[in-house]
Amino acid sequence: RGKAYQFMLRTRQPGGFVTNKLYLTMDDLATDFGSGTLRLTTRQTYQLHGVLKDDLKSVFSTIIKSMGSTLGACGDVNRNVLAPPHPYKNRVDYQHAQVLANNIADLLAPQSGAYYDVWLDGEKFMTAEKEDPKVTEDRNFNGFGTNFEGSPEPIYGAQFLPRKFKVAITVPGDNSIDVLTNDVAIVVMTGDDGEVCGYNILAGGGMGRTHNNQSTFPTLTEPLGYVEKDDIYHVLKAIVATQRDYGRRDDRRQSRLKYLVHSWGVDKFRHVVEQYFGKKMMPFKPLPKWEHKNYFGWGEQGDGKLFYGVFVMNGRLKGEGKKMLRHVIEKYELSVMLTAEQNLILCEIDPAWKEEIQQQLESVGYVDYSKADLLDVKSMACPALPLCGLAVTEAERGLPAVNKRVRALLTKVGLSQQESFVIRMTGCPNGCARPYMAELGFVGDGPNSYQIWLGGSPSHSRLAEPFMDKMKLDKLEETLEPLLYFFKSRRSSEDESFGDFCARIGFDALRVYQKAYVAP
Ligand code: SF4
Repeated sequence: RGKAYQFMLRTRQPGGFVTNKLYLTMDDLATDFGSGTLRLTTRQTYQLHGVLKDDLKSVFSTIIKSMGSTLGACGDVNRNVLAPPHPYKNRVDYQHAQVLANNIADLLAPQSGAYYDVWLDGEKFMTAEKEDPKVTEDRNFNGFGTNFEGSPEPIYGAQFLPRKFKVAITVPGDNSIDVLTNDVAIVVMTGDDGEVCGYNILAGGGMGRTHNNQSTFPTLTEPLGYVEKDDIYHVLKAIVATQRDYGRRDDRRQSRLKYLVHSWGVDKFRHVVEQYFGKKMMPFKPLPKWEHKNYFGWGEQGDGKLFYGVFVMNGRLKGEGKKMLRHVIEKYELSVMLTAEQNLILCEIDPAWKEEIQQQLESVGYVDYSKADLLDVKSMACPALPLCGLAVTEAERGLPAVNKRVRALLTKVGLSQQESFVIRMTGCPNGCARPYMAELGFVGDGPNSYQIWLGGSPSHSRLAEPFMDKMKLDKLEETLEPLLYFFKSRRSSEDESFGDFCARIGFDALRVYQKAYVAP
């Protein structure tokens, strides 16, 4: 018997939608084959850690037979497609975003049968067979040079993409999914009749960077233009083809789409995309301001049913909480939406069940988010140590204690329990928990040591900036107390958040104040 290699497995859940059957399957698999816990990710998927090599085939085939999939969840292909996880049944645009997420996941899924050959001995399953015929037709359309004749991969060709590729879809104003941090962001636009008429397209976002390498950076998408409804798959293929053919393959640190957009400039990028697309994009349509939305607590789906957003600290389902959630989901046959902030939403709840469900969840500590500390509610951490091979320090295991220390500091400087802001922590600069969008970001840069990023916005629409390197965790109070005191005494109003304050006042002023600070 060889070494007991273990693996992390990630699922594909476009828009975060999980059927009742798949939820129960994933819960069982975590118990039977994984570490016993289930991790919800920042891309609305599951991660199972600790799956042994000998168990891989059973786990994969069980997921696929439960209408799930792991196809395209890793590798240099399109990754899980994000969409707002709200189960609105009375909003055409939200429903459309979910359908589109599914179709784009199909459009850009690897087509080779190898996945099924390896995990199901060649037997094809439902995920591939459910596909919308228009998606198949558009994938194979070769009118603009993206077809590889004879290749099983009409879009990716033999080499696939230079690097992973991320797409997110939303509706105007809803930034529940950090939409601007993706390679491509699509905004569903509706006309005066309320029907979907087209899409605003943005491109070139991404979080990952490398410490001490200034040519790597996090950045946000830039507006490309608007396309009509029927053109969405073609323009997306054109963007993918541009990245496939011009994205750098000689240096993986420079191979994401954002570096191509940055090096060319958005106008040249648009021009090349339009050549593949075969026509010009229309001007980008005006959008309202982005708002961060969360879906915690009780809400109405719009069809008489209710939903309930459950706060899951760092997306880790474990112990009694995991058991109770499973019980509720099984008993009431609920479907689930995973959010891009590692939480979940119970859907399809009959109003008659509301009280019982609330009581059951409260009995294990899953309560209405308003009873949890708002710092916890707004924060995220990646798995980091000991689960991620790239981690240089703690994140998931470290964040709860850090939040408590920040809360104690807020109290010490005289701010209320209601004061909160977005805190995010990662164990390395890859940025899986999107720390560069936080109002206070911790990016691991050594053992118990973090680069501090400040100045993101509460709406998650402005990048933070690096404030200092190598803050040892035991210097947290010394580092942050002056900044929080400065914030308390100089904020423009009670409504100004910490991130907005840091961005307005500037890092020079923050540093001067930090240096001169004498604790009151
Ligand atoms: Fe691993 Fe780094 Fe991603 Fe955290 S941010 S999960 S440490 S790669």
